[in-house]
Amino acid sequence: MKFELLQLEEDRIRYLLSGVTAAFANGIRRACMSEVPVLAIDEIGIYDNTSVLFDEQIGLRLGEVPLQAEDLSLFTQPEECQCGGTGCPGCRVEFMLSSEGPGTVYSSDIQFTDPGVKPAFDKIPIVILGEGEKLVIEGYATKHVGKEHSKWQAGTLCGYKNLPCIDVLDSCDGCGKCVEICPRNILTVENGRAKTTNILECSLCKLCIEACEPGAIKLSPVLDSFVVSIESCGCMPVKDLVAKAADEIKKRAEDLDAKLAELA
Ligand code: SF4
Ligand code: SF4
Ligand SMILES: [Zn+2]
Repeated sequence: MKFELLQLEEDRIRYLLSGVTAAFANGIRRACMSEVPVLAIDEIGIYDNTSVLFDEQIGLRLGEVPLQAEDLSLFTQPEECQCGGTGCPGCRVEFMLSSEGPGTVYSSDIQFTDPGVKPAFDKIPIVILGEGEKLVIEGYATKHVGKEHSKWQAGTLCGYKNLPCIDVLDSCDGCGKCVEICPRNILTVENGRAKTTNILECSLCKLCIEACEPGAIKLSPVLDSFVVSIESCGCMPVKDLVAKAADEIKKRAEDLDAKLAELA
């Protein structure tokens, strides 16, 4: 297996993975979306809501606010907690939100009792309060995984594609039609012959093939190489997210190994 980092920012990563199956590349993608545990608001008590939004809409918005924890390992998932899932400081963190209009209630108004927990972004709007309107809510955030509910989905835009391979045959006459039609602008004509400038950006749309009258351009996916793009919702740096997703897959493989060993 070969790993090549193409782009790394705080919340997004793009890398080239070669010498693996599609199932392996897809496994990491899926684990980023559904297997990495994070905190999300899960339980609320509304004491006052005179805003234009229904309680349910406010609850939905609060649940989708990405949360950061200084040390996520301090929290246990409720079903694995000593309290048996009834709720305790080991498996949930309390918050309070109290606001009065006029003004916009933002994610930064959600105040957690644990100073190590906070919304990942301050300016996510929750609701606009008119003059004298009030919103008073208490509740808890718990730790879970994305396969339980999208509010615990740590990876948002997660995708992959086969690495494209473009061959230009000797029959190319340099007409440039493929260059004109390429929506990614990754083709050029040099010395009377078409060539790619950045194959990683090719979307495999095949418009260049349709435009080429002599049939001089051939496109094929490299079957064991994948361009993988992952974005974090903001709950953790994306490099941690991918590492944790790989850990989750490793744990599952070890569990399977142990179970198979018992059967042997
Ligand atoms: S397949 Fe599409 S994106 Fe790729 S080179 Fe051809 S036209 Fe451009
Ligand atoms: S359309 Fe075909 S012939 Fe024309 S430049 Fe592109 S590859 Fe060459
Ligand atoms: Zn507990």
